[in-house]
Amino acid sequence: MPSVDIVEVAPRDGLQSEQARLTTAEKVELIGLAVAAGVRRIEAASFVNPKRVPQMADADEVMRLLPRLAGISYIGLALNERGAERAVAAGCDEVNFVVVASETFSQRNQGAGIAETLDGWRRVAAVVKSAGRRSSVTIAAAFGCPFEGEIGLDRVASLMERLAENDTAPDEIALADTIGVAVPPQVRAAFDVLGRIAPAVKRRGHFHNTRNTGLANAFAAQEAGAQALDASLGGIGGCPFAPAATGNIPTEDLVYLLERSGIGTGINLQSAIGAAQWLGDKLGKRVPGMLEKAGPFPAAA
Ligand code: ZN
Repeated sequence: MPSVDIVEVAPRDGLQSEQARLTTAEKVELIGLAVAAGVRRIEAASFVNPKRVPQMADADEVMRLLPRLAGISYIGLALNERGAERAVAAGCDEVNFVVVASETFSQRNQGAGIAETLDGWRRVAAVVKSAGRRSSVTIAAAFGCPFEGEIGLDRVASLMERLAENDTAPDEIALADTIGVAVPPQVRAAFDVLGRIAPAVKRRGHFHNTRNTGLANAFAAQEAGAQALDASLGGIGGCPFAPAATGNIPTEDLVYLLERSGIGTGINLQSAIGAAQWLGDKLGKRVPGMLEKAGPFPAAA
């Protein structure tokens, strides 16, 4: 049976955009629920400046409290060398770095241009590789930018080429639809190109559901060779550039789509729905995911 790894991003990408804050203990419980449901890779924390992202100020504490389990990989986000050193010291199994496909978005969001960010990646890669941890780079705004509009595939391809260069190539490259504008043919084309440019690098998709195309895009990505897909329990999160928009694609909805299509995820759907409900209770709102409301495929009456 074909299979795809679902990377649970609610503890970082999801919670970072939510108004309600979870306590450190609740974050650890959330990650525990994801693991109990069968998730093997979790974006657990962000090692960025806590002044910029106060929701993630407890990253070191979250990592300290997480149980170390065989086969479970915790991912820490780092945007510079200092962050990578913190993530490694905190015990992250993988470090994720971000390069933005649009120069304007890069300047506004990272406070640095694309060329400078690529230099930063080489330093981060050195830290992560010398510590023997896995690395991934997310190409953000790969399908469209809130400032520059269309992002041509040629621009994304040249970033892929730069990233895939010899000794600093990450173990995995993720293509991210940060503002939720992509459609499946665009996703298919981008993953085809990534597979050609960097065949030895694992491929991952990151889709926001801002315009309700997230699940279709995720499916297109796995058809085009993505081995991993990001999703957040309940579909929590948001997008700072699209007010009132929904967040990542919901983990439980993605599990339903893939498993009913004969693609294994290793995740128990009912447990994932339960975790999404738990998360909605903690956030004090109904989560955007549909399976949390509709339930799984009905049993015969
Ligand atoms: Zn995201």
